[in-house]
Order: sequence, then structure tokens, then C-alpha cells
Amino acid sequence: MLPSISSHNFNLVVIGGGPAGFMGAINAAEEGVESVLILEASSKPLEKVLISGGGRCNVTNACWDPCELVLNYPRGKLPLFTAFSRFCTGDAVEWFSNHGVELNIEMDGRMFPSSNSSIEVVNCLRRYAKNSGVKVYTKSAVKSLESLGKEGFIVVCRNGLTFRSKKVLLATGGHPSGYRLAKDLGHKCIFSVPSLFTLSLDAPWLSKCAGFVLDDVHMSLNIDGQRYNEAGTILITHWGLSGPAVLRLTSFAARSLHSKNYIGSLNINWLGNFDLSSVKSIIASYRYKKPRSLLGSERPFHFLSKRFWLSILKQIGVNPSLRWADLPRDVERCLSEALCSSNYLISGRGKFGEEFVTAGGVDLSEVNLENMESRHCKGLFFAGELLNVDGVTGGFNFQHCWSTGWLAGKGIASSIK
Ligand SMILES: Cc1cc2nc3c(=O)[nH]c(=O)nc-3n(C[C@H](O)[C@H](O)[C@H](O)COP(=O)(O)OP(=O)(O)OC[C@H]3O[C@@H](n4cnc5c(N)ncnc54)[C@H](O)[C@@H]3O)c2cc1C
Repeated sequence: MLPSISSHNFNLVVIGGGPAGFMGAINAAEEGVESVLILEASSKPLEKVLISGGGRCNVTNACWDPCELVLNYPRGKLPLFTAFSRFCTGDAVEWFSNHGVELNIEMDGRMFPSSNSSIEVVNCLRRYAKNSGVKVYTKSAVKSLESLGKEGFIVVCRNGLTFRSKKVLLATGGHPSGYRLAKDLGHKCIFSVPSLFTLSLDAPWLSKCAGFVLDDVHMSLNIDGQRYNEAGTILITHWGLSGPAVLRLTSFAARSLHSKNYIGSLNINWLGNFDLSSVKSIIASYRYKKPRSLLGSERPFHFLSKRFWLSILKQIGVNPSLRWADLPRDVERCLSEALCSSNYLISGRGKFGEEFVTAGGVDLSEVNLENMESRHCKGLFFAGELLNVDGVTGGFNFQHCWSTGWLAGKGIASSIK
């Protein structure tokens, strides 16, 4: 028997008060859907937005073309083209501007609120949810979701509250309970693994260079029968490597690394665009250019810090007091290889990336990406990280939340009308 729920009837119940859920709820309400409720498990909706981007919230990226934008999604890619063709980065910028938040572009394309504070984005979403009549119930984790066919859904919370709703938007992020609710309604979920993490390397000497940033490092990871190449800025940490290029690498290789328990071999060229033969000839030339100088005090690549250079010398067993003229040929070769083609053992996954997200979730082939409605269960919609979509760092993860949330809101409004 159904519980008495007459005072708990809604046109739309959104499960999950994150950015995707808020965007879906606000857009549905602004498109004319009355009685919209967000059910949030925790006491703090939009918590991830608040801590995002180091408290600045990297809202999106100035990558305007959907064809280019999709390349930043290791999972999602082509199917996302449909969603981005309808609501892209430029639309997100305009949406926020229309809702009182101006975004600034940084040199690398990342976009932040002009106040440089994530609170501005949180306040905007909360304010417009309120203004458009959306109710938000916190501490209301949904434990079950039942489809009544044309009659809508029954939504039951752990705190005992029960609601009836014509439409449901599932936007629970990477939380396992959301996958369970989707599976209960017939959806396939790709098992989730972490994405965007730092790497631990079995190279204790590197920890002496912790804090050192290198701008153009090339990395090649051979794992699980696949090769992943990445280049860009890295940060040496106490346990291994971090920085944008490493997070990008681990994002694309997330599944392969997981399947090998985060053990693998990483080839690193610390000198970026220099290849082995040019490094060999530069090093060999020092024998003639600087014969009387000491290896420790005269380094051929000035963009490498002295500390890093001395650590590399020590690592391959070269005395820094040696004169360049006395450098043995075999050591010259070892030094060139250590600088631009050496293998490091990946010994595990670092603690956290800048933007920890999950790879995996609701299979996109079972979702209509024009309006985010389930192909199995009419009236059920999806948005955000719950889907089998994840992006690299740079505002791409929020962007797919804005796009899929907006599309879901619009789709719900048209289906109710
Ligand atoms: C430290 C950090 C920094 C980040 N910085 C950035 C950044 O600057 N730019 C960027 O693009 N991305 C960033 N990300 C990634 C971004 O935060 C996520 O991609 C995004 O929050 C996903 O949004 P979502 O709405 O899908 O899920 P979430 O933000 O995870 O929201 C889902 C909500 O659903 C609730 N919930 C879960 N299960 C239930 C249930 N059963 N019933 C009710 N409620 C439920 C959760 O409590 C949560 O509030 C960052 C992530 C982290 C961890």
C-alpha cells in the first residue's frame, strides 16, 4: 500500500544537490516546471563546488568548439558531441552572466568567477534555485526509487520521507547509491574507478626535488597493451609526480592503470623537446666548450634547477667535482639517457589529484543525449558525474555537469508541457 503522500507530490524530484542537480532543477523551473524539489543526502549542497579549484571554482574552459571540447573527455567523447552541440562552454558563460556571475579567462583557457571565489558560484545556484521556487531538502539521502509507469515515481528517503513525482532527475555524482538506483530501474553502469590522480614513483632520489616544477616534460606510459603519451607541466612531489600533464595522463590511462593495480613503467624525458641524439651531442660538446669546468657547477640545461641537476648526477653515480674534459664516454651516454629517456617504476596511485573524479557510471548508450532521458524508463533523467563521463582538469568536469543538467531541465520541462 502506498503511504499517504498527498502533501509530497512534485512535478520533479532531483536526487543529488550538486552542480548537475542544481542546474537541472533551476533550468526546469525557469522553463516553467512548478513544484521542483532537490533531495540532498548531506547537510551541505554544492559542497564540491565550494572546494573546487582550490576555492576558486574552475567553472569551465574557453574551448568553444564542441569538436575540440569532446577531446578533453577520456570517457564521453563522441556521444557528448550531441549534448555540447546544444549547450556548450559559450552557453555556460552566457548562462552564468545572465545569472549574475561573470567569468574571467586565464592564459591556459581555464575560466573562474571574476571574484575568484567559489562562493559566488554556490550563492548564484542557491539564489536562483530559491528565486525559481525550487525547494531543497538536506539530510535526505534517497534509498529507493520505484517507477509507476505513466503515474511517475515513488522516491523514498532514509529519513523516512516519501515523495511522489512525475519526473526524476538522478544527479548523485560518483556516489554508489546513485548507481544502485539507476540499476534498479534497468540501467547498466560501467564499474567506476578513480580518474585524475597523482602518481607514486619508486624513485626516492626524486623526493629531494619535491616542489620543483618543469614546464615541458614528455611522458610515455606503456600499460595493459596500450601506450599513453603526454607532455606538459609536471610537479615533483615527495612521493612522485603531480601537475596538469600527470593528471591528464592518469585521466586517459585511468582504466589501464586500475587493471594493473597502479603498477607500471613510465618513460620520462625531463628535457621535453630535446631528443636523445641532440642531448648526447649537447653533453658531448661540453667536453670541448667547458673542459676545465666542474660538472656540478656548469650545467648544459639551465632550465633544470641546480638541485635537480645535482640529484641526477648523484643518481647515476657521477662525482659533481669531475671536470667536463674527464667525463668518461659511457657515463656521458648514461647521463643523456637519465635526462631524456629513463624508465621509472610506478608504485601506486598518489593520494589525491586536484580534481578527483570517477571514471564509469551510467552507460551513455542507454540515455538520449538530446534531453538526457533514460531509454529504458520514461520520465527518468540523468546529469553529471553519475554518467560514464569524465574530463581532464581545466573546468571540463563542471562543463559536462552544466551541459547535461541544462539539457535535462529543458527536456523535463518539454515533457511536462
Ligand atoms: C577537490 C575537488 C576539486 C574540484 N575542482 C574542480 C574544478 O575546479 N573544475 C571542475 O570542472 N571540476 C572540479 N572538480 C570535479 C567536480 O567537482 C565534479 O565533476 C562535479 O562536482 C560533479 O558534479 P555532480 O553534480 O555530478 O556530482 P556531485 O558534485 O558529487 O554532487 C552529487 C550530490 O549528490 C548527493 N547524493 C549522492 N547520493 C545521494 C542520494 N542517494 N540521495 C541524495 N543525495 C545524494 C551528494 O551528497 C552530492 O552532494 C573537483 C572535484 C574535487 C573533489
